[in-house]
Amino acid sequence: MKALVLFSGGVDSTTCLGIAADKFGADEVLALSVYYGQKHSRELDAAKKIAQYYGVKHRSLDLALIFADSDCSLLKGSSEDIPEESYAEQLAGTDGSPVSTYVPFRNGLFIASAASIALSNGCEYIYYGAHSDDAAGNAYPDCSKDFNDAMSKAVFLGSGNKLRIEAPFVGLTKAQVVAKGIELNVPYSMTWSCYEGGSKPCGVCGTCRDRAAAFAANGIKDPAITED
Ligand SMILES: [Zn+2]
Repeated sequence: MKALVLFSGGVDSTTCLGIAADKFGADEVLALSVYYGQKHSRELDAAKKIAQYYGVKHRSLDLALIFADSDCSLLKGSSEDIPEESYAEQLAGTDGSPVSTYVPFRNGLFIASAASIALSNGCEYIYYGAHSDDAAGNAYPDCSKDFNDAMSKAVFLGSGNKLRIEAPFVGLTKAQVVAKGIELNVPYSMTWSCYEGGSKPCGVCGTCRDRAAAFAANGIKDPAITED
C-alpha cells in the first residue's frame, strides 16, 4: 500500500480518493472511514459503495466513544439541532469560536489514528480533504493550513520520517475541489454530504449549502440531487 485516504464519502474526501487512485492505482490505496457517533450512517454507506466503485481496500473504524462527552450537534447524543444556515450566517456575530458542527479535534484524532494504520500497512502518504472554505472564520480550526503544517510535521517526525500528509486542498476553495474532481471523473452522484440522514439531502444545512454553491460555481447542478 502506498496511500491511506481519510474517506467520509463526501465531496472533498471522495475527490482525494480520486486523486490517490489516479496517482498510485487502486491496488495501492487504502480508504479509511471513521464512525464518530454521527446522527446517521448515510455518508458511511456512501463511502462503502464509492470504495467498491474505485476497487480500493476499505476499512472502517469506530471512534464514537472518544466523543461521548461532546455536545456537538452532529452527534447522536447531542441536544443541539443541526443549524439550517450557511457557515457565514453561523459565524456572524460569534467570537471566532468554531461552529456547532465542529467535532472536537476530529481531524487531529483521525490523522493520528490514520498514521498508525498507514504505517502498519506500509503506506507513505495520508491524504485528507481539508479545504480553505472550512477553515474560513475559524469554523473548523482543524482544517486550517497552520493545523495541517503542524500535523504534517508531527506525523513525519513521529513515523521516523516514513509517512507524509498530503492535503491537496488546504489552499483551495470547495469550488476548486469540485473542479479538480470533475477533471478526474469523480462519481459525485454517489457521495453524501448532508448532516441530516434523510432519504435525500436536506438542502439547508451548512454542508448542503456549501456543496450546492461549489457545483453551481462550476456551472453544474449537484449530481447527487435527483428530481422526483
Ligand atoms: Zn443537508
